[in-house]
Amino acid sequence: MQPEHADQAIRYINAAKAALAYFDKHLGKYPFPNLTIVDPPLDAQGSFGMEYPTFITAGTAWFVPVGLRFPEEVVVHEFGHQYFMQLLATNEFEEAWLDEGFNQYYEGRIMDETYGARSAVVDLFGFRMGDLESSRDDYVHNDDIALGSSFGNTWQLPVGQYSMLTYTKTATWMRTLEGLVGKPVMDEIMQTYFIRWKFKHPNGQNFIDIVNELVPKRLGSKYGTDMNWFFEQALYGDNVFDYELLSIKNQINEERPQTVITVRRNGDGKIPVDVLVHFKNGKERLFFWDGKARQHQFTLTENADVLWATVDPKQKIYMDTNLNNNSLTLKPSSAPAAKFATKFLFWIENWMQWLAWLA
Ligand SMILES: [Zn+2]
Repeated sequence: MQPEHADQAIRYINAAKAALAYFDKHLGKYPFPNLTIVDPPLDAQGSFGMEYPTFITAGTAWFVPVGLRFPEEVVVHEFGHQYFMQLLATNEFEEAWLDEGFNQYYEGRIMDETYGARSAVVDLFGFRMGDLESSRDDYVHNDDIALGSSFGNTWQLPVGQYSMLTYTKTATWMRTLEGLVGKPVMDEIMQTYFIRWKFKHPNGQNFIDIVNELVPKRLGSKYGTDMNWFFEQALYGDNVFDYELLSIKNQINEERPQTVITVRRNGDGKIPVDVLVHFKNGKERLFFWDGKARQHQFTLTENADVLWATVDPKQKIYMDTNLNNNSLTLKPSSAPAAKFATKFLFWIENWMQWLAWLA
C-alpha cells in the first residue's frame, strides 16, 4: 500500500475476500495459495488495474469516499482475471469477450451481491448505481448500438467500440442469457465450462457447445434444439432488442368484458418474452410470446378489466434497450422521479471512460 492509502487497505482486502468466496462457490476453486495486490501511487495510474497470475494491481486515491466503490471494483475485476484468461486461458487477441466480457459479467454479479444491486458502484449524495446496470447503461446508451458484434479480432472491432463491445455488451448479453435459462442453469453452464477447460485453451465455440448441450437438457424444447439463435443475434450479430407494451383495450364484446393487449417488437432482435397481465380484481396471468412477429395481440376474456400489463416483468431481457416502454397502466400512476437521469448518465459516461483505461 502507498502510505497515503493505508486506511483503504481494508477495502481491497474485503473486496478480494468477497471475490474469492464468490468464485469458489459459483465457478470453481482458486487453486493457488497466495494472491498479491499491489497499490500503485496516484501519479502512476497507468499501472492501475492490471492482471497477472496470482498478482494484480489495484488503484485508488486518498480522497475516494466509501460510497464510490472504484477501489473495490478494480480488485474484484482484476481478481476475476485469475479465472478468465489465466485458469481459462482464452485468446484475448482473437476473442476478447471470453475474458474481459465474462469477467465483466462476474464483476457485476459479485459487486451487486456484495454491495447492493442498485448501489454497488456508486452510493453517494443520492446517486446510486449497481455494477451490472452500469454495464447495461453503457451498452444501451451507446451512440450507435448496432455498430458491431462483440465477436472478432480486436483490430476488426469498430473504432472506439472495443470497450463497449468487449466489456459491457458481453456482460449485458451474459446477464440476458442468465435471465433466459435461470441462474441455476447459468451456473451449471459456467461450472461445466470451468471443469472441462481449466488449465486449457477454450474458444468461444467450446463455450457455446456447453450452452447448447445443457439448455435443452435442463429446459427441454422451451428455446428450441439449441441456443444458436441467441448467439447469432447477441454475440455474432448487432441486433437490437426492444419490446414495448403498446396498448391495453378493455371493451365489451357480446355483453362480456374483453381485453385486447398489443405487444410490439421495435428492434430487429427476436427473443422470447413473458407478458404479465394484472386485472382490476387483483388476478394476474403470465403469457409467453416467441417475440418473432412485428407485434402480437392477446385477447383475454376474464370477466374483468385489465389494469396494467408489462412485457418481460422479470427483466430477463437485460439487453432490452428501453425498459421504460415495457409496461402500461391504464390509470396513470405517480411517475418515478427522473430528474437526475441526464446528469447521472453524464456522470456514468465519464466513469466508464475511466474504467476503459483498465485491463
Ligand atoms: Zn479486465
